Amino acid sequence: MIFCPLCSGSSGNSSFLESGGTRILIDAGLTAKRIRALLEEIGIDISTISAILVTHEHSDHISGIGVLSGKYRIPVYANAECFNAMPATTRDKIPASCIRLFDTDHLFFLSGLQILPFSTPHDAARSVGFSIVSEGCKCTVMTDIGHIDDRMLSVAAESDLLLIEANHDVDMLMAGRYPYHLKKRILSGHGHLCNEDCARALIALHDRGVRNVILGHLSQENNSPELAQVTIDSALKAAGISDMNIMVANRDHPLGMFSIS
Ligand SMILES: [Zn+2]
Ligand SMILES: [Zn+2]
Repeated sequence: MIFCPLCSGSSGNSSFLESGGTRILIDAGLTAKRIRALLEEIGIDISTISAILVTHEHSDHISGIGVLSGKYRIPVYANAECFNAMPATTRDKIPASCIRLFDTDHLFFLSGLQILPFSTPHDAARSVGFSIVSEGCKCTVMTDIGHIDDRMLSVAAESDLLLIEANHDVDMLMAGRYPYHLKKRILSGHGHLCNEDCARALIALHDRGVRNVILGHLSQENNSPELAQVTIDSALKAAGISDMNIMVANRDHPLGMFSIS
């Protein structure tokens, strides 16, 4: 299995995954042109993508899917609540023959990939993360999560690679220039995950076999790659953990092709 975060953050999210000859995108939250260019950077032609999985309808996750699906006839997988909540300008570009509805919290199969879309706490119609198993490997993507509960930890357990949100530093957010209602939204249990809560989740997941982690969806305003890395590294160290590999996804270019075996 190969995984590559193409871009990650509130300005746009998309990840590439390939296994057993099947290539998919998880979210496509930049223009179709940018997504195509990011794929070209890692040597992938957009016409070889078999599906786009959608976590939720916020624009930083879907802004390219209408054009990509319409132009290249790429099937779009989402739950019904997400489809219905998409702006008509996006939904109307997706050909009817390319709409694939999945049941949240139920496994489905796409070529050789076993995919679990699992519920996540976020202020969208019905947001999900994805846990994907293929060729004996497991990759889990969970961003846009206000908090983490035991059910989500169980889903992510034993992942060979985990992309998890480390959105903000609480002190930076509180001292920053965001209006009060936006701060409140981000900090709520259905907003975004802070560095400290991400670290707590990773300590729990270390016990459940997770060793390779990519931090994603960092706020440009209220976090920095260095701060997220230092906060999480020191929390892991304080918990006596020294064998967890932590990387940080880039905001606007691919992090690299991770081969999972
Ligand atoms: Zn987002
Ligand atoms: Zn969101």
